[in-house]
Amino acid sequence: TKEEGRGHYRLFEPEMKVAMQHRRTLEVELRRAAVAGEFEIFYQPVVSVPEREVVGHEALLRWRHPERGLVAPDRFIPLAEEIGVIEPISEWVLAQACTAAARHPGEGRIAVNLSAVQFTSRRSDLVKVVASALGASGLSPERLELEITETTLLRDTEGVLATLHALKALGVSIAMDDFGTGYSSLDYLRRFPFDRVKVDRSFIHKLARDNPPVLRALTDLCRAFSMHVTAEGVETEEQFAAIVASGYTEAQGFLFGRPAPREGNAPLRSGRL
Ligand code: C2E
Ligand code: CA
Ligand code: CA
Ligand code: CA
Repeated sequence: TKEEGRGHYRLFEPEMKVAMQHRRTLEVELRRAAVAGEFEIFYQPVVSVPEREVVGHEALLRWRHPERGLVAPDRFIPLAEEIGVIEPISEWVLAQACTAAARHPGEGRIAVNLSAVQFTSRRSDLVKVVASALGASGLSPERLELEITETTLLRDTEGVLATLHALKALGVSIAMDDFGTGYSSLDYLRRFPFDRVKVDRSFIHKLARDNPPVLRALTDLCRAFSMHVTAEGVETEEQFAAIVASGYTEAQGFLFGRPAPREGNAPLRSGRL
């Protein structure tokens, strides 16, 4: 009945109010963070398997909040996408990461995560953004790898495909991130021109313990598509042994190195977002 409905609503009202206030606070703070120079990039090493030599790094965004401390990207990127500030933030990450990598010519690849929003934006052209980050930094394109997730592929497929080809024409490579999560990932390998597949941490952890043959099947599959394959989130020697035995050529994880800041990370001060 109506009465029950209203009672029900009242029961949840305070919680909803708190959640909405929290969201609004976060939104205001997020818009201010760029002006205040609170964003930083951490870098995590990627190593060769089985040698464990550093072959590159992944750039991972951090928000150094004045009261909350270091905020992980999962906690603010979805909101940044929603309120339309992910693009200036992403462009800053890309420019910073390329500049830092260009300063260290011997360091190998630099991987940067892209948001699905960047592929459908009317505000800026992703291909131009990447081209100008390369141009401004002087980084040679083959050192740059762009990582995308399933969320990007679920959008306008033809448009995404055209953008991926245009990006590859710049000389950069493309990685499918978080492989093994979500849906119909196998079909993505057939349809999109990835250079690399990054097998998600949850998959690596479970399969290394319960079903190593599937770990092997994944590397065979990627190889059949002529794609490189990286194991994500390797934390233990047991997991490392399993990925060595399964034919992975690269790995990333706390066992080899945690994401960490590096010198010369200029703050994002792009004005109010
Ligand atoms: P991701 O791209 O899958 O990045 C790997 C995440 O796994 C990172 O979390 C990293 O710190 C964590 N990780 C690495 N090795 C291990 C391990 O051995 N064990 C465990 N438990 N975790 C490990 P982080 O830095 O919190 O980033 C989370 C996600 O936020 C990223 O997942 C990525 O999707 C997104 N993200 C990060 N930086 C950016 C960015 O600049 N732009 C966009 N659009 N997204 C970003
Ligand atoms: Ca990634
Ligand atoms: Ca990943
Ligand atoms: Ca992830």
